[in-house]
Amino acid sequence: MSDKRHQNLAIIGHVDHGKSTLVGRLLYETGSVPEHVIEQHREEAEEKGKGGFEFAYVMDNLAEERERGVTIDIAHQEFSTEEYEFTIVDCPGHRDFVKNMITGASQADNAVLVVAADDGVAPQTQEHVFLARTLGIDELIIGVNKMDVIDYKEDTFDEVVEEVNQLLKQVQFQTDGASFIPISAFEGDNIAEASENTSWYDGRTLLEALNDLPEPEPPTDAPLRLPIQDVYTISGIGTVPVGRIETGIMNIGDDVSFQPSDVGGEVKTIEMHHEEVPKAEPGDNVGFNVRGIGKDDIRRGDVCGPAEDPPSVAETFQAQVVVMQHPSVITAGYTPVFHAHTAQVACTIESIDKKMDPASGEVAEENPDFIQSGDAAVVTIRPQKPLSIEPSSKIPELGSFAIRDMGQTIAAGKVLEVNE
Ligand code: GDP
Repeated sequence: MSDKRHQNLAIIGHVDHGKSTLVGRLLYETGSVPEHVIEQHREEAEEKGKGGFEFAYVMDNLAEERERGVTIDIAHQEFSTEEYEFTIVDCPGHRDFVKNMITGASQADNAVLVVAADDGVAPQTQEHVFLARTLGIDELIIGVNKMDVIDYKEDTFDEVVEEVNQLLKQVQFQTDGASFIPISAFEGDNIAEASENTSWYDGRTLLEALNDLPEPEPPTDAPLRLPIQDVYTISGIGTVPVGRIETGIMNIGDDVSFQPSDVGGEVKTIEMHHEEVPKAEPGDNVGFNVRGIGKDDIRRGDVCGPAEDPPSVAETFQAQVVVMQHPSVITAGYTPVFHAHTAQVACTIESIDKKMDPASGEVAEENPDFIQSGDAAVVTIRPQKPLSIEPSSKIPELGSFAIRDMGQTIAAGKVLEVNE
């Protein structure tokens, strides 16, 4: 095991701007593709008389994985720099990328925003930047990609930088620390080595910038929170809820509570990777068994926590939301589906309390009549069925949500206050 520090990294940006290609390039340049695999491909390519085969291999492999569907995707690919071990926490090109980014499993510390130099800021560029900002991504590195397509022209690069800076200002992303790097994921410019094609650029390569990222916040000492993904009945054991521990520790013998189902008991067994373990920690996917809990007592969307500090159940909650795309306006009374951790619950926006000026962060309007795409606001929300959710300041892992309607993510938010 290496003792490098760990980072979860999201690769965000508009479709076709080169996210997958960049992941492939990062894996390739950091030697994260096993040697025997490259060797095998090299032989094949030589037989066919093809050049540039090694990188092509990585890309073929990723494409194939993508075709196989969502279960085997390129999320969780890993690569290292001198300082950090990076895990790519979401799959570029994944259909539910936005939703996943919010509803757990893919909480990223930092992100690389990929913007194609020949296209500039596009709709998903905006959407992902809004989200990254709302969800508290610390730092963004902006890869201005496909520089080869624009003949490595400095003035086109500068135009894209200006355009992205406007966007960052608009959503109040701290822009001082943002690095803009002219890259070609395809050709490999400024990824591992400074490129001669951009002699006008004297900044860091992408890997240098990644290596210089600030250290992620240490994990909180938050209590156990384990959103339930599924509930199984397994012969010989009984009812087995499964899910991923977001915060805290689960030990055999702990007294736990499931909310909002409001049942509880003592943890009898914990299983991980088909083996029994005495305890499990954040990031662990576990199946466990709780004395006295039957299959119909709990369900997906419940959160398991300590009996003495059970998960909060919101009567109402106040949240900060960013509207990403809505065809008309959002007014009080609107009841879309909220996705928070593993729960999906229809919730009514009971009141729109404040509209915020994205440029200054100040309150722009008290009690506005409506909000629309691009607006940030503080709203009060009433779940139509019990929902367990936490203030983002207390447990960030359980404090954010996506609002979906008409088959798309229309807004994202984080919880300011829960009224139980
Ligand atoms: P994603 O949808 O953001 O993951 O984009 P992909 O990585 O699938 O790339 C979309 C297309 O752009 C593919 O045909 C890539 O080969 C191409 N592409 C990606 N990066 C570059 C680049 O740096 N230069 C050029 N010329 N093409 C690129």
